[in-house]
Amino acid sequence: MKLLLIFLALSSQAFGHDVSKAIIHPGEVRWTEFPATSDKSIFSCRGNIIKYAYKDRKGVAMVVESYFSELKPFKCLVEFNGKTEHEILFQVEDKEYKAEQLKVDPKKIKLAIKDEQRVWAEQQVLNRIYASSVKDFQFQKSFVQPLKSAITSVYGMKRVYNNQKKGQHLGIDYRAPIGEKVPATNGGLVVFAGDLFYTGWTVILDHGLDVFTVYGHLSQTLVPVGKKVERDEIIGLSGNTGRTSGPHLHWGVKIQGQYVDGMSLIDETQKHLPN
Ligand SMILES: [Zn+2]
Repeated sequence: MKLLLIFLALSSQAFGHDVSKAIIHPGEVRWTEFPATSDKSIFSCRGNIIKYAYKDRKGVAMVVESYFSELKPFKCLVEFNGKTEHEILFQVEDKEYKAEQLKVDPKKIKLAIKDEQRVWAEQQVLNRIYASSVKDFQFQKSFVQPLKSAITSVYGMKRVYNNQKKGQHLGIDYRAPIGEKVPATNGGLVVFAGDLFYTGWTVILDHGLDVFTVYGHLSQTLVPVGKKVERDEIIGLSGNTGRTSGPHLHWGVKIQGQYVDGMSLIDETQKHLPN
């Protein structure tokens, strides 16, 4: 036993810095803590710099794996003054996502030119929003589900629309009649409240450090852009707007430009923050 411990200690020091290991699946987020000399330490995964929260020589970052993962292992590094302080080796394990068929308005499948232009213009607005996240996490508690009703479509479901167009559902759908109160799933800043082609009337919250949540197909939005909201605060009413096959709430989680499973954000924050 003693020998094994010595061996483990030696191997984790083999590169002159600590190495830790983690596992992630496509479409998931991992709450990742690491030692950091200062808030000037750089945290990067696959060579991309990732924003993190810093306190008492410790960093906290959200590491995500794309739904469209190639299942390749990757490295995250903590560097200070060009020197690696810590390394985390991520192993990516596969995850099966199921398929479903849907019938929606054909006009929301094969887009008219004016709709294509509208979608493009909306994308420019959204890109700017997603590129300007606030500097610190806007929450102290774990994330929660927006509704307690049945989930009618889970994250990652492969979809075939009207037997023709293929896609994937990168959010979670909750059963909701028109007019159900929709609360914020955590503290955040309202960065969008308006009508979008696909998600209809939509509220987007910025939770800081490139973590966003999206509430779609609303009948009404109840908060203005710029408002700071707390967890459970009502931000809109459910509805049937945009590309839908009936009234429901669509809840999306976008972290560092990737739509990930909201359930993994809930699980990960529940492990580390008060519930
Ligand atoms: Zn949905």
